[in-house]
Amino acid sequence: MQFKEVFGQEQAKARLIKSVKDQRISHAQLFFGLPGTGKLPLAIAYAQYICCTAPKEDDSCGVCPSCVKFAKLAHPDLHFVFPVVNLKQAGSKPVSDDFIARWREAVIAHPYISEHQWYEVMGAENKQGFISRSESSAVLRKLSLKSYESEFKVLVVWLAEKMNASAANSLLKLLEEPPQKTIFLLVSENTDLILPTILSRTQMIRIPPLDPQSIREGLQQRYPGKEEIVQDVIRRSNGNYSTAVQLMESDELDNAHFEEFVFLMRKCYMREIIEIQKWTERIAGWGRERLKMFLTYGLRLIRENFMLNLQHEEITFMSRKESEFSQKFSAFIHQGNVFGMAHEFERAIDHIEANGQAKIVLLDLAIKNILLLKQIQ
Ligand SMILES: [Zn+2]
Repeated sequence: MQFKEVFGQEQAKARLIKSVKDQRISHAQLFFGLPGTGKLPLAIAYAQYICCTAPKEDDSCGVCPSCVKFAKLAHPDLHFVFPVVNLKQAGSKPVSDDFIARWREAVIAHPYISEHQWYEVMGAENKQGFISRSESSAVLRKLSLKSYESEFKVLVVWLAEKMNASAANSLLKLLEEPPQKTIFLLVSENTDLILPTILSRTQMIRIPPLDPQSIREGLQQRYPGKEEIVQDVIRRSNGNYSTAVQLMESDELDNAHFEEFVFLMRKCYMREIIEIQKWTERIAGWGRERLKMFLTYGLRLIRENFMLNLQHEEITFMSRKESEFSQKFSAFIHQGNVFGMAHEFERAIDHIEANGQAKIVLLDLAIKNILLLKQIQ
């Protein structure tokens, strides 16, 4: 990862680059600040710059053998520690290395990955991650070896506040008597949870929330041609790029769900059974989770339209596109059928949840809607 891939944060970049040029790289540094500001990508870009064999004025070269390995996060002198969860039985002691392949893939795909997103990648949304004592022994072993290819070994500790007391104590020992030519780059979102003795041994670098322009730059690169939602997402993201990406993705999905919902309602209203059948075959392939999201979306739009029908526009929360469609559609959602329609969508969600055959569930839902839409007020 190069500095140019990190959005904004010009001050921090300049400071880090200067430390390398002046040959004053502090052996323990802590990047701290709110989530989604680019602390992890900055730490990796910095490590890459330190190890690059042909660094340029303001970035690593991107093409030397060291940079090529860094791009895959697989340089032998680059080590990672991050919170992991226990997916097996109690008592087993997972360490970062157990998840390293998934970590590399996830961070390369989304360097601004949030803590929660990482837990999702590990398949453990509802568990809390931790950095345990077993991690420290793995680290000790790695750092006691000589560096393989670069002058320095670099250890990046992501979310250092997740260290438990004994992991923290052994890191403290390492910081007090650092192995030769080793650089510790700690990343934290909550320094209150880190031992003060560790904090006092690191050079602390505050990474501020991202300015709107940097977030815009990031979103434009990742989602070209989506200008109409970018502006709104920037406003809602609060300087957190990770949130911005999440919002973009849920908006994209809502957009797709909107199109399908409108299609279904039109076909139901016209009673075009053949078209409806083709539609159920297409949508059934989405898979259970996505189908549940679509049905939940439909349920929301039905409720919003009923509110609109009751002239309560002030308490509806719809996008511009949804509002435009609902100007006419709301006339068809009234007290005579809203409960029935909501009930049918809820029932479909339950059936999908219980592994019901998607095609049959969707067709059943459509037929009920045909009848309900014709119902008079
Ligand atoms: Zn290079």
